[in-house]
Amino acid sequence: MGERGGRRVLEISIDPDLCIGSGDCTRVAPSAFGLDEDRGVSIVRPDAGHVEAALLLRAARGCPTQAIRVRLAEVEESGGDRRVDTSSPR
Ligand code: SF4
Repeated sequence: MGERGGRRVLEISIDPDLCIGSGDCTRVAPSAFGLDEDRGVSIVRPDAGHVEAALLLRAARGCPTQAIRVRLAEVEESGGDRRVDTSSPR
């Protein structure tokens, strides 16, 4: 529960223009990230939001190009979305 009754969720994204396909993130958090061999970039797996936040942040901080963003978002019960914090290393 958030401070105003919302639910906090992690939003994870990868900027494909920054990703160089090094695979570091897939080694740190294989449940959250996978390599798209065709495009040569990493992708966020569907269950990434269930991965431990500390592991996601370690992967983000270890990304050589800082392509990974991890945000804490607050989802209101009405379905609205309001960002309350940015936990990305950028
Ligand atoms: S660590 Fe960064 S650059 Fe390497 S594959 Fe993951 S997102 Fe791409």
